[in-house]
Amino acid sequence: MKRLTVANPHGFCSGVARAVATARKVLSDHQGEKVYCLHEIVHNGQVVSELTAAGMVFVQQVDDVPPGSVLLFSAHGVAPAVRKAAEARNLRVVDATCPFVAKVHATVREFASKGVYVFCIGHHGHDEVVGVAGEAPDFVRVVEDENDVRSVSVPDGSKTAVVTQTTLSAEKVDRLIDALRRRYPALRVPGGTEICYATRNRQRAVRRLAEVCGNVLVLGAANSSNSRRLAETAQSAGANAALVSEMSDLDGSPLLDSARLGITSGASTPESFLDAVVNRLMCDYGFTGCDVLER
Ligand code: SF4
Repeated sequence: MKRLTVANPHGFCSGVARAVATARKVLSDHQGEKVYCLHEIVHNGQVVSELTAAGMVFVQQVDDVPPGSVLLFSAHGVAPAVRKAAEARNLRVVDATCPFVAKVHATVREFASKGVYVFCIGHHGHDEVVGVAGEAPDFVRVVEDENDVRSVSVPDGSKTAVVTQTTLSAEKVDRLIDALRRRYPALRVPGGTEICYATRNRQRAVRRLAEVCGNVLVLGAANSSNSRRLAETAQSAGANAALVSEMSDLDGSPLLDSARLGITSGASTPESFLDAVVNRLMCDYGFTGCDVLER
């Protein structure tokens, strides 16, 4: 008998739920008018497709938005320069930045105003990191890995602090903070790290899931940082793990031969996708039951 076990918690976090609800409200408040969103509202193809079908236009830069239009900022936040560019075009901005990301921006502003250089641990080019670094471009250095820690430099090593992208793996952040501290002993670590509660508790849940199920599917987009970290966390806990971005990713997956298959989903993955995957696994792949791994 083959069974499915779903991690708890999984799926939408509060920041994503808030951003998606904001997007739907903006669309309903401005019916008959084109509504724009800068970058993906959250990193998930199903969410973006649903909003596109409802009339939202996704753009890559503020210059792509006609002056005077409504523009939504995504959950990942934006740099002050982007806000200024929107103001210059008289755009009517609606801000769906997650409050946890906004807190990281505030921390960077505070440090930079005191002349403290800030290492931002995160992925180069990720929307959230671009926004955070843009708070104080002269004071922020993005470090993604040990190589970056070795090569990064600041004008005054006695005045340094660290912040992190909210969706990283806790182990990796701890490792990089230790490496930064070895180079910069005066490094300030404000109140722990900024990995948000949703990232931490989903990683904890997938670690437990990996311990009881040898194989784990992580439902989430390839460009979703938190989903990729869930797959890595399951692997580091000893399971085989695969990212499933769309239904066709299931086809031919060797993980589906398991007697007990674990499933979780990233913080930007809608529950409707998880329901659809569970249905397909029950109908087409011989799974006969589905339970939830309690916390
Ligand atoms: S993962 Fe955390 S920081 Fe990112 S949107 Fe969700 S609650 Fe906010």
